Amino acid sequence: MKALCWHGANDVRVDHVPDPTIINPRDAIVKITSTAICGSDLHLYNGFIPTMQSGDILGHEFMGEVVELGSEVKNLKKGDRIVIPFTISCGSCFFCNRDLWSLCDNSNPNAGLAEKMFGHSPAGLFGYSHLTGGYAGGQAEYARVPFADVGPLKIPDGLSDEQVLFLTDIFPTGYMAAENCDIQPGDTVAVWGCGPVGQFAIRSAFMLGADRVIAIDRIPERLQMAAAAKAEIINYEEMDAGEAVTEMTGGRGPDSCIDAVGMEAHGTGLDALYDKAKQAVRLESDRPTALRQVILACRKGGTVSIPGVYGGFADKVPLGAAFNKGLTLKMGQTHVHRYLGPLLDRVQKGEIDPSFVITHRMKLDEAPHGYDIFLNKKDNCIKVVLKP
Ligand code: NAD
Ligand code: ZN
Repeated sequence: MKALCWHGANDVRVDHVPDPTIINPRDAIVKITSTAICGSDLHLYNGFIPTMQSGDILGHEFMGEVVELGSEVKNLKKGDRIVIPFTISCGSCFFCNRDLWSLCDNSNPNAGLAEKMFGHSPAGLFGYSHLTGGYAGGQAEYARVPFADVGPLKIPDGLSDEQVLFLTDIFPTGYMAAENCDIQPGDTVAVWGCGPVGQFAIRSAFMLGADRVIAIDRIPERLQMAAAAKAEIINYEEMDAGEAVTEMTGGRGPDSCIDAVGMEAHGTGLDALYDKAKQAVRLESDRPTALRQVILACRKGGTVSIPGVYGGFADKVPLGAAFNKGLTLKMGQTHVHRYLGPLLDRVQKGEIDPSFVITHRMKLDEAPHGYDIFLNKKDNCIKVVLKP
């Protein structure tokens, strides 16, 4: 089959690779119909994740048709159309039982490597390096889905791929980021980053009752998309975003602040890698970091919610400000399984059509071009969907 493979920083190629096969009775094989490129993929593309190996298949936002099933998967049948959460979960460990799916204890075969780095292991993830299990991703014609008796969501007739594809990741991620803010009537929520995750965080904050949402970015078309959802917008290249949100909230600061930017490479111990990457690419984090601003801008007693992905050590986090303001900090990989049903419900009721975020549709063969325009914000790119 064809698959999009990582070969080093800024080097992804569509290669011919062996088809996946069932290796565990709880597996399914899915023929992929739609698959997206995520901001998280850009951390791999930038070369920031040291546990990638040449030839690894990328992609963790995918859906398709079941073509083969392991003997223990009784909830699916061949031909079913399914959406697959990007987090892989066993469904029965201590963490899955507590609805903490992205912390599953049994889905990361390389837990030892993760434990060495973090002292604990995250769940397995599709297409996200050997730190999270080394699973082949879904920017491919086919993928193997482990624990297929637990994760996949069957899609009812009448919904297009584009309406449900983002249940795999960015819709639940934006939603959990907003839910973590514990929004009260009258609240103002500020969202740093108007990429796909920020866009869903903005809309979710309104769904969960925010009175005002302030959206911060520098890319005009992303700010326009935020404004279309009735967010008030700040271009951080035109003004100091921290000062601006403070002023817009009468000097008190937003009730909660969301960091939908992520990955700050400075001082992470990845500096050499960062310098190398910086020569090759225009790096989003080579600017006043969102996380610092988010903590400094949030009102006393407020909540900072961090869906943006961080790795290694983030330097110069103003922990003193967080402590003295009595902030609540919430973060982590999304517990996607928790949100699949409820968010599918919202899509079916017409409360949101997640396809609003798509700006580019292309064939799998064009994926390297997709990465280039998404990273470099060319051609007004906000979200790329590949159709293998
Ligand atoms: P993206 O790269 O398209 O969006 C990031 C946006 O942040 C860009 O529009 C960029 O212009 C903006 N930005 C950069 N620096 C900024 C600053 N200082 N202030 C304000 N805005 C700034 O990516 P995305 O797909 O929207 O993903 C966003 C983050 O969410 C990434 O770090 C990604 O890895 C992470 N993510 C996390 C999860 C999870 O489970 N927690 C899931 C998916 C994605
Ligand atoms: Zn993603």
